[in-house]
Amino acid sequence: MTDGTVVVARPSITQLVVRALQLRCPHCGGRQIFASVFELKDRCPTCGILLERGEPDYFVGAYLFNLIAVELILFFCVCGFVYVTWPDPPWDLITYVTAFLMLTGCMFCYPFAKTTWLAVDLAIRPLSPEELDGHDHGGEVGERAVPHV
Ligand SMILES: [Zn+2]
Repeated sequence: MTDGTVVVARPSITQLVVRALQLRCPHCGGRQIFASVFELKDRCPTCGILLERGEPDYFVGAYLFNLIAVELILFFCVCGFVYVTWPDPPWDLITYVTAFLMLTGCMFCYPFAKTTWLAVDLAIRPLSPEELDGHDHGGEVGERAVPHV
């Protein structure tokens, strides 16, 4: 950065997703990005990027992503269980266990959904030098005043 040019690291999609599945910052791989089990810190403690990228309601897509992932996993598990226990599957057991797994699965997978959502967003809309500068200097991103690449 000697000539004033800001170079922004661009991890591959594989790096982004692997880091996200390890609950690390997809951008730098830094740890301890969660303030609590379900809540991310405002900034990555290692690289300083805004984890919500300065956008309100950034993680609404993560809710949908989480719901779809958990339901798909459960769907295939239930289908496999019914197939194995056919012709007499225990429907009552399947009903109660599936309801329990739906609720606990959504809670367990939610942190992964958030980091994966951020990873996919960083792959589709990589950090631009302008956005990174806005993160560093606390600029108002708001109405896309700081454009993405
Ligand atoms: Zn980071």
